[in-house]
Amino acid sequence: MNHTPDLFSYRKHWAHKFGTAPELPISRAEMDLLGWDSCDIVIVTGDAYVDHPSFGMAIIGRLLESQGFRVGILAQPDWTSAADFQRLGRPNLFFGITAGNMDSMVNRYTADRRPRSDDAYTPDAAPDRRPDRSVTVYAQRAHEAFKGVPIVIGGIEASLRRIAHFDYWSETVRRSVLLDAKADLLIFGNAERAVVELAHRLARGEPIAQIRDLRGTAFVSRGLPEGWSEIDASRLDGEGRKGLSPCPDPNPYEDEPACPDGASPSRGAGATTAGSDGQARSPRLERATTVVRLPSFEQVRADPVLYAHASRVFHLETNPGNARALVQAHGERDVWLNPPPIPLTDAEFDRVYELPFSRCPHSSYGAARLPAWEMIRHSVNILRGCFGGCTFCSITEHEGRIIQSRSEDSILREVADIRDRAPGFTGTISDLGGPTANMWRLACRDRRIEAACRRLSCVYPDICRNLNTDHGPLIQLYRKARAVPGIKRVLIASGLRYDLAVRSPAYIRELVTHHVGGYLKIAPEHTEAGPLGQMMKPGIGAYDRFKDLFDRASREAGKEQYLIPYFISAHPGTTDEDMLNLALWLKRNGFRLDQVQAFLPTPLALASAMHHSERNPLKRVTRHSERVPVVRGQRQRRLQKAFLRYHDPENWPLLRQALKDMGRADLIGNGKRHLVPSFQPAGTGGVRESRQTPSPRSPSARADSSRAKPSAPKRRGRPR
Ligand code: SF4
Repeated sequence: MNHTPDLFSYRKHWAHKFGTAPELPISRAEMDLLGWDSCDIVIVTGDAYVDHPSFGMAIIGRLLESQGFRVGILAQPDWTSAADFQRLGRPNLFFGITAGNMDSMVNRYTADRRPRSDDAYTPDAAPDRRPDRSVTVYAQRAHEAFKGVPIVIGGIEASLRRIAHFDYWSETVRRSVLLDAKADLLIFGNAERAVVELAHRLARGEPIAQIRDLRGTAFVSRGLPEGWSEIDASRLDGEGRKGLSPCPDPNPYEDEPACPDGASPSRGAGATTAGSDGQARSPRLERATTVVRLPSFEQVRADPVLYAHASRVFHLETNPGNARALVQAHGERDVWLNPPPIPLTDAEFDRVYELPFSRCPHSSYGAARLPAWEMIRHSVNILRGCFGGCTFCSITEHEGRIIQSRSEDSILREVADIRDRAPGFTGTISDLGGPTANMWRLACRDRRIEAACRRLSCVYPDICRNLNTDHGPLIQLYRKARAVPGIKRVLIASGLRYDLAVRSPAYIRELVTHHVGGYLKIAPEHTEAGPLGQMMKPGIGAYDRFKDLFDRASREAGKEQYLIPYFISAHPGTTDEDMLNLALWLKRNGFRLDQVQAFLPTPLALASAMHHSERNPLKRVTRHSERVPVVRGQRQRRLQKAFLRYHDPENWPLLRQALKDMGRADLIGNGKRHLVPSFQPAGTGGVRESRQTPSPRSPSARADSSRAKPSAPKRRGRPR
């Protein structure tokens, strides 16, 4: 991991003489003003162009500019013909194509597959400014616009669709997006290292078809390169190919991979020379030249068990310290994935975030509102990555498990920069955060141990003993941010990993006293052990401990503050009984949630593999693996969501029927111990007239209103 060139050590491309653009050009007229006759790279994106480090096109565009390249932006181009893709002329090096900050299907459709009415990444939140499966469509148009220009795809959509993946919107396993897009190269994960190296090598005249050694890239290949060995995934992790026969070799993947404790990283590929029975085994293989063959696209499409097996092996091969290359056949061709990128150093991360961003949407948008920018324009991103491993979340698949943290100085400089330059700033930093607010500077205590580890989470089933959970540096950072002249307030709006936070009552005190604006969002996600186990989330006891500390610290600070818990319905492993128990917990604790969330299976997530296969890829997958209960069909999805909003009269008819079907009619009635009233208010639940449903156990029509019921504010980011 130490032989990676520094991101800023490359000799600059000759075009650096044009200097820094005030904003990257989106038209020929702007290129003319900059004195450019052409772009070296054209980035095509499904989002509006916002020159801010929270937006992918800006971070990659400004980074390439810092390397001396001329970068143009085609933001939300008209995809109905190739004409708009010719707007900036033929790029000298490549088209870089991304759907934007979100997968286009997640952006355009709700969890119930209904079209969304708005798009936070578009001026004035206008919908329908990007196509379904944007990466594929944009790549096709770019091919048509300029034949022969290399097509490089990246961003979250390409990243999560880099191998065969379950696609919720079509309910099928789709092939790698590389093939649909006919791309020359796919960059997955954080793209900085790969895209910089790629641009310099293309500029030196190296054909893209020969650039096959970049970490964090995938491409279409045929055959095994010379000097490489191949190992079948089924030999690593139990039953797989070849009729799912028992694994012939010792299985190096434990059901719960243990923490390697102090051992130096193994260099082997998981195969050993002899088993305990004395039988000869495969020779030890060199990791750097070993590729793991996953079941083919055709196999995983036809067989959900193999899909779950492939998903498990894929996830166990994502630590940059020990991951091997992966390969998956698609018909006659292979999709080859190099190991994931090496995380940026703190110094590199700082420099990337301190590139000369204007911090604003492109000036051509005028006074149009851009909700995604308005949400983050006064916030600072302090870290990347997440070691939580929540199975429904795709952050880990994209950003990795190793936390990359910016330095304190760099963060404080950005705070001052917001104060001095951000439009509309009135003294409040709206967030110091990232995927998880309190993972800044948390890491494995030993880089060698980290490099050898294959655990899917550092905090599940318990917080790993090797994890440094010291929140002291974060407390200091908060204090220094508050002390920056001109800063009145610093809020923490990113989600919090509360099972980590309870390790530091001092952190909770600091947070509650200075950084909570009345409500704090946290995400237990459920109360029941079944779904929590499939999510890899801590038990509800951790929430209770956090709540005690939160309430105590709020009292000591003389503040009335509330926790807003978030929950997911319809996650794999969730039965209707689990949802009923959750609803009873909500009622007992006085919560009436405004915003609730139904599980959305995103491509490549472990929970999506559960959803598709009804198997649990957190353990070795076999034909005899335990079945995971899965919610299928809109009626059951609606019901599970209705339990989260048990207080909404619109849901009462559905809940009453479900309670009767579940043998829990005793919960229908008008007393405190009932979940759903027998009374239906006029004009609700499809009922015109007010009516009373007879119930022998409902003496009163008074609903339980004896406890404080804070309403959840609009959800901003995903709490942990
Ligand atoms: S702290 Fe995380 S990376 Fe380190 S050994 Fe434990 S699980 Fe592995």
